[in-house]
Amino acid sequence: MKNTMLLHSDHADQRQALIDTAIASNTQGINQGTSGNVSVRLDEGFLITPSSMPYESLIPSDIVLMDHQGQPVNTGITQQGLAHSSVRRPSSEWRFHHDIYCSRPEVMAIVHTHSTHATALACLQRDIPAFHYMVAVAGGNNIRCGHYATFGTQALSDYALKALKDRKACLLAHHGVVATGHNLASALALAIEVETLAHQYTLVLSLGEPEILSDKEMEKVVEKFKGYGERAQG
Ligand code: 13P
Ligand code: ZN
Repeated sequence: MKNTMLLHSDHADQRQALIDTAIASNTQGINQGTSGNVSVRLDEGFLITPSSMPYESLIPSDIVLMDHQGQPVNTGITQQGLAHSSVRRPSSEWRFHHDIYCSRPEVMAIVHTHSTHATALACLQRDIPAFHYMVAVAGGNNIRCGHYATFGTQALSDYALKALKDRKACLLAHHGVVATGHNLASALALAIEVETLAHQYTLVLSLGEPEILSDKEMEKVVEKFKGYGERAQG
């Protein structure tokens, strides 16, 4: 029987990084309570936060390993409050995490939030248009808002994937945000950026109707960001 001491093969570092990212989403003000969830891709599937547990209370063995079929894997790690053979319930949104990893090979990590301003726009079912050049950080000339479906459903996952086409982030109507990245840090950074843009856009809308940057200009910015990102990554 294994104990709570995790071995390297148990992905101890990635489990802790997932918890650190989830806690950071709270301290950065883009999540609160048990809303939102975080995952990171592994060779054998992905790790995801457990459902309905406050991030501050998480220990590495609470993080759920999901296989390529979207099934929780029993790693045999003993967990506080659970029988030896049990695993925590994965986030109720495991479906969109699973489907994004299946269909988007470049995505290595996903952060889902209910950040306030982005969610306010999502409640109006509004895309974020190119009111500011930084909208291009999500990969194009807008940040789409996917259709509404009940949380945790396959329909929500299907709508999220559609809204994420050629994009790194999207809004979910009457729900929140999905941000992807090449690692946990970049997925978290994009989730924060989407919230900042949504905050700016809500302010702009309260002042008037902004002019929207042209598709040609946004294509230029998207291209420029590719070089900018490479420099930032060293
Ligand atoms: P989980 O606690 O199951 O991850 O649910 C939070 C959430 O944001 C559902 O959309
Ligand atoms: Zn949610």
